[in-house]
Amino acid sequence: MTEPILDLRGVAKTYKSGVVALHPTDLAIAKGEIFALLGPNGAGKTTLISIVCGIVVPSAGSITVAGHDALTDAKAARRLIGLVPQELSVDMFETVLATVRFSRRLFGHSGHDAHIEQVLRDLSLWDKRDAKIMELSGGMKRRVLIAKALAHEPAILFLDEPTAGVDVALRRDMWTLVHRLREKGTTVILTTHYIEEAEEMADRVGVIDKGKLLLVDDKAALMAKLGKRELDLTLVEPIAAVPAALAQWAPTIENDGRTLRYVFDAKEERTGIPSFLTALRDEGIAFKDLETSKSSLEDIFVDLVGEKA
Ligand code: ADP
Ligand code: MG
Repeated sequence: MTEPILDLRGVAKTYKSGVVALHPTDLAIAKGEIFALLGPNGAGKTTLISIVCGIVVPSAGSITVAGHDALTDAKAARRLIGLVPQELSVDMFETVLATVRFSRRLFGHSGHDAHIEQVLRDLSLWDKRDAKIMELSGGMKRRVLIAKALAHEPAILFLDEPTAGVDVALRRDMWTLVHRLREKGTTVILTTHYIEEAEEMADRVGVIDKGKLLLVDDKAALMAKLGKRELDLTLVEPIAAVPAALAQWAPTIENDGRTLRYVFDAKEERTGIPSFLTALRDEGIAFKDLETSKSSLEDIFVDLVGEKA
C-alpha cells in the first residue's frame, strides 16, 4: 500500500472500568478505500472509531491521519475526518440548515453554501432545511447527522453502524452516497454487524471480535473463503492417487489415502457434489462415511452472526 491515509499502530484501549475494549491493533487504510469493520455488539468497533476521531483516548499506540499525528496534532487530524456516530446526537432546537452550517464552520470553512446545499439535496433534506430537528422523524435525524459529517468535505468519513435500524429508503440512499463519495476519492470506514452490508459496500473487510482484529482481507477473497466447505469421504479402500476421471473436481487425498476431500462453494447454486459422487461410483471408489465441514473463517462468521443483536 502506498502511504496510507490512516495508519494505526498498536492501538489499544482499556476503559477505567477495566474492560479491555481493544487489544493492540495495527490497521492501515488506503486513500479512497471503502473499509468495513465487521463484528458483533461489544466487539470494540465504536471504541476504535472513537479513538481515531479523538473522542476516546487510547491506552497505547499511535495513529496518523494523512501524516498528521492524531494524538499530538489532533486538530489537524480531526479536520480531515467526518463522523456519523452510532447514537443520535444533535441539537433538537436548531434547524437543519443551521446545524449543518455550524458543523462546516466548526472546521474553519466559510459558509460555502453551495456545498451545503448539495449535501442537503443528496440526502433529501433540502426541503426540510428550515425545519427544527425535533420535528423530524428518526430517519431524517440520521440524515442530518450524515449531512453534518459531510459539511466540511472530509477526506475520511466514518459511519458507525450506518444502517442499523434505519428504513429501506435511507439504507438505499446510504449506498448511493457511499458510491458517490468513492468516486470523489473520499475514504469511507464503516462499522457493521451485518455481513451483507460489508459485502454490499466494502472493498476490504476487517473482522473484529472481543477487541481483537481477527483478520483483514479484500472483500472478494474473504467472501470466497467464507462460502467454502469441505466434503470428506472416508474410503473403504485407501487410494494412492486421484483418478484422472475425478480431476475436474480437484479432490485431495488426506489421511494416508483413506480420505478423499472435495472443496466446494456452498454459496454457489451448484455445489458439484452429486456429479462428484456419481463419478466416484463410476470409478468404483466406495466410501463408508461422509462429512462436510465449514472453513474456520466461516466458523468465525457463524459465531458473529449468532451473536448479533
Ligand atoms: P461495538 O461498537 O463493537 O459494539 P464498543 O466499542 O462500543 O463495541 O464496546 C467495546 C467494549 O467496551 C464493550 O464491552 C463495551 O461495554 C465497553 N465500553 C464501551 N464504551 C465504554 C465506556 N465508555 N466505558 C467502559 N466500557 C465501555
Ligand atoms: Mg458500536
